[in-house]
Amino acid sequence: MDNHDLMDAMRNHIKPQIDLTIRANQKCAYCKSTKDIKVNYKYGFDFVVDDCLSLAEDDDIPTSFDYDIDNLAIFKKEDEEFSDLWYLMHQADDTVEILCPECISDINTIHYEITQMYLASSVDAYYFLIVIGVVPHNFDELNNLLLVVVVVVDILLAF
Ligand SMILES: [Zn+2]
Repeated sequence: MDNHDLMDAMRNHIKPQIDLTIRANQKCAYCKSTKDIKVNYKYGFDFVVDDCLSLAEDDDIPTSFDYDIDNLAIFKKEDEEFSDLWYLMHQADDTVEILCPECISDINTIHYEITQMYLASSVDAYYFLIVIGVVPHNFDELNNLLLVVVVVVDILLAF
């Protein structure tokens, strides 16, 4: 299976939905800035994609594609069942958020810091934050959360 084409087709397919969402929201979900807002995937695009792929029947996951004028893969009409599922799942996914570039950059820095901080630990602190459903948006939130994480990680490591 050409995974690259599948990813392109998945990205292409939800473009209109993202445009609609941005137009409907018009401001950063976190700081309310209206400048250059865009979609951010809290846990990465792959996280949403994997969710959909794990739910779809293997036979329904497209393996061949049509191509648009930019030569990017798009879903074939016959793969409507999968593309509809993907569209709905992406729409319902609450890890997709509208943010401004500044907040996105803060979040990326925070993810990096967490990864560096816990590189030596056997517990993936970022995964832990996903499990408890909390991802910090700024450094104050991060510091508060890390206090909690440090305690919990210590407890987990004690077992
Ligand atoms: Zn913002």
